[in-house]
Amino acid sequence: MPFLELQPFGVTDAGKVRQNNEDALLVGDGEDETLFVVADGIGGFEAGEVASSLAVEVLKELRPDRSFKTAMAEANRKILAAGRTDEKLSGMGTTVVAIRFGGTQSEPLAEVAHVGDSRAYLVRGGEMNPITEDHSLVAELVRSGDLTRDQAAEHPQKNLITRALGADEDVAVDTTVLPIEANDRVLLCSDGLSDMVPETRISELLLDSPEDPERAARDLLAAALDAGGNDNITVIVVDVKEQAPPPRLVRRREGQSGTSEMRAVEPQVQPQESRTPPRESPRRAQDRARRHHRAARRKRRGAFRRALGALVRGLAILAVLAIALVPAYLWGSSRYFFAFDGGDVVAYQGLPYAPLGFELNREWRRPGVKESDIKEPYREPIENHKLYTESQAQKVLGDLGS
Ligand code: MN
Repeated sequence: MPFLELQPFGVTDAGKVRQNNEDALLVGDGEDETLFVVADGIGGFEAGEVASSLAVEVLKELRPDRSFKTAMAEANRKILAAGRTDEKLSGMGTTVVAIRFGGTQSEPLAEVAHVGDSRAYLVRGGEMNPITEDHSLVAELVRSGDLTRDQAAEHPQKNLITRALGADEDVAVDTTVLPIEANDRVLLCSDGLSDMVPETRISELLLDSPEDPERAARDLLAAALDAGGNDNITVIVVDVKEQAPPPRLVRRREGQSGTSEMRAVEPQVQPQESRTPPRESPRRAQDRARRHHRAARRKRRGAFRRALGALVRGLAILAVLAIALVPAYLWGSSRYFFAFDGGDVVAYQGLPYAPLGFELNREWRRPGVKESDIKEPYREPIENHKLYTESQAQKVLGDLGS
């Protein structure tokens, strides 16, 4: 089973008619780097902007182990509360469409949640299909058979939505879970795209540049602008790609070398260790001159060590920045996995692979359990580096200990 990685690109534009951009987006830069969000704010003056960014702020804090519905309810409360305290913000609201990736290496999944008429589409096997159904008047008329999809696209009330965050104390969020495969492409967009560009054209543009999410997103934006750009336009394209097996994860099979070993290489940069001072050897009290000399040398060495420490820390920060800037968001560094290391079970924080030679994991816990003690059904998730959230990993550690 291949390792999967996410390659996203998001873009937003005020369009050609509106002064403000009331859309907001999140492109994998929240607590959960597999989470992508488009929100389209509603409300006069700048209230729409406030509502959509409030929704994105709340979702940005959403941890991988917390539910979408809880976060949506919280965003709803915050938008309502802000509207009550400020006259200008009263009546504001926002649509939201969000997707996050998860599951296991052998069964990758995506969870989609939405309220309103911002949309999610899935491109697979050369075909584009909608994942979401609009919460809008015309979409309801299409569902009841009173309008065709084409008539809906031309309908004067096509922008009337029937659900939004900030509209009511209770908000009904639609969620769906779908299995994910390598080479899937997901599109999230606001109605500034889907109202201006017909679905057939959106699909063509997505199929035109299968290897380049940035080009796909930019082409879609350009098409919406060319069609008039009447509304704010937001587009996120997320590609699911196969990744080569981890180059630095060494694994020897039983029988080949006499031992079964799985080893994740230690991080190359370890600023903590380089700051540890050396152990002093005992010295005689009367040898003051020598001691003084040594103290001075130690002081110089200390300064050198501190400078080296600063340099190493600087390099570590650079390494982190380099990872953050690579537009390939990985399945989640807030993840944990288990592996066998020299006959022991070891828990690692991070991901079981190393893009561009950067290690993305570090040893987290060594529960003192032998590989030979692990029974058959429990070996599979360890051998396949099943990914866990921190609380799940804690639970597995508890189960291993008992
Ligand atoms: Mn809009």
